[in-house]
Amino acid sequence: MIRLFVPQELNPGAALPLDPGQSRYLAAVMRLAVGDELALFNGRDGEWRARITTLGKRNVTVTPEAKTRPQAPGSDLDLIVALVKRGRLETIVEKAAELGAARVRPVITQHTNADRVRLERLQAIAVEAAEQTGRLDVPKVFEPLKLEKLLAGWETGRHLLFCDEAGDAAPLIDALREAPGGAWAILVGPEGGFSPAERDRLRTLSFAIPVSLGPRILRADTAAISAMTLWQAALGDWRP
Ligand code: SAH
Repeated sequence: MIRLFVPQELNPGAALPLDPGQSRYLAAVMRLAVGDELALFNGRDGEWRARITTLGKRNVTVTPEAKTRPQAPGSDLDLIVALVKRGRLETIVEKAAELGAARVRPVITQHTNADRVRLERLQAIAVEAAEQTGRLDVPKVFEPLKLEKLLAGWETGRHLLFCDEAGDAAPLIDALREAPGGAWAILVGPEGGFSPAERDRLRTLSFAIPVSLGPRILRADTAAISAMTLWQAALGDWRP
């Protein structure tokens, strides 16, 4: 069953127009016909069964019929990732969507080799991954911020798992075992790693927990995937 994320309200019988990209996908790529079924979600009203009501090459309208899944809150997890090369960053955004992150916050650090991202493309990747993975919301991808600025404005009560490749941090699984409740964030550094000054700064923060992801140096995407996986298994929604 095709699942599409739409921004509009979802009300039974209220036909809504899809955007040109989605229209082309249904009409030209998937070659659907009027009356065919699909699923819609908008991040607020759960998932709905819908049907195609008109089929233009670039303007398809669909009509929600009935809610099939109630809206449920996703995991309150932030993934903070230093800007790595474009392809890898796109992979990280896609995996963050599959692994249930609520927000992806790109950050600029001393060793990042970029300070801009193609935000629209990253957000589109997040939408596509959310559609594929069956979640009822889409992770929000933010504009890149300097790490220092993010830390200075840190959300009270949110714990930060600081993936520190320096090697003397506690194993991630131990940090999660003793984990206090509440909201969490995961921080992964750039290809060039964190600078000593950044590491010192992070280790002074009361809300930051330096953790090790084992004896090998992982690429940023591997580190992000590994940390999110362990977090979901220990504290997230991989347990009923
Ligand atoms: N260039 C650095 C490695 C950076 S890897 C070096 O050679 O030391 C990119 C990021 O992934 C790191 O900043 C860290 O956040 C995370 N990471 C990679 N391997 C890790 C490990 N074994 N333990 C903790 N974090 C790790």
